[in-house]
Amino acid sequence: MNRDRSTYTGLPRKEIDWFPKIDYEKCNPEECNYHCVNFCPFGVFSKDANGKVKVSQPYECNVGDESCKFQCPLGAIKFPTREELKMMLRKLREKYQK
Ligand code: SF4
Repeated sequence: MNRDRSTYTGLPRKEIDWFPKIDYEKCNPEECNYHCVNFCPFGVFSKDANGKVKVSQPYECNVGDESCKFQCPLGAIKFPTREELKMMLRKLREKYQK
């Protein structure tokens, strides 16, 4: 799939802090068999050499999409709130779209 993820509605994607964060107190890939790694079609998650799950390509994540959070059986995936996302986008629009 050819995707240009460098911008989101004209804003630089790398300045938008929207991506999953893993709560390692809860994450247990042996229990879910790396469900998030297998679920995300954009390769946001990966498994490192020690079997730990990492958010290795955060800016490949779709802004506003938190579907993986609902897939994690252990509730170990977190995202910013909708309100935080709105504020982030508002600030960036003020910065770039004056
Ligand atoms: S689905 Fe949840 S428990 Fe499983 S590897 Fe991902 S974050 Fe960890």
